[in-house]
Amino acid sequence: MKKFNSLIITWGLIILFLVVIGFFYNFSRDDDYLYLGKDAPIPRELHPLVDEKKNTLIQQALVLNIHLVITDEFRSFEQQNALYEKGRSIEGNIVTNARAGETYHNYGLAIDYALINDAGDYIWDTTYDGNVNGKSDWFEVAELAKNLGFEWGGDWSGFKDYPHLQMTFGLSIRQLQEGVRPATEEMKTVE
Ligand SMILES: [Zn+2]
Repeated sequence: MKKFNSLIITWGLIILFLVVIGFFYNFSRDDDYLYLGKDAPIPRELHPLVDEKKNTLIQQALVLNIHLVITDEFRSFEQQNALYEKGRSIEGNIVTNARAGETYHNYGLAIDYALINDAGDYIWDTTYDGNVNGKSDWFEVAELAKNLGFEWGGDWSGFKDYPHLQMTFGLSIRQLQEGVRPATEEMKTVE
């Protein structure tokens, strides 16, 4: 009987432990996204974590003797629509298929990069090997970025967007349009 009781207590403690863990897991998950509704404010700058990882990426590339330049980061809805018109109602080549609100750039969650050589010229050649280690600098940067948690446009199965890096926080464009936002530390402390 005593053995039976201790068995119950042990199982009771295990179940209690799992419930507590489950509670905190859910709690922290909920904290990562915030549903702010249809009128959710549109971000006006890069998400702080994306900004931090961008700077880390630049530093890590420098260690490999690769100079990269961020050609685009946060893009407002107005800027996006103007870009969309390029090659359509405005002269030039089409540069994007995304209208306002249809790209992670509009939510401060994407950046674009290029390489820069010693003369200061921008390099768009993905085979360029400026640090002469037998590997494409462009792909080396992509690898670093992926290790930092970015998704790389060069990995997309359809249209490949080689300069593009995004951090989605598990959110789709649809969710962002509906007013879900990745929480920033600032938002979390306000809660
Ligand atoms: Zn991009």
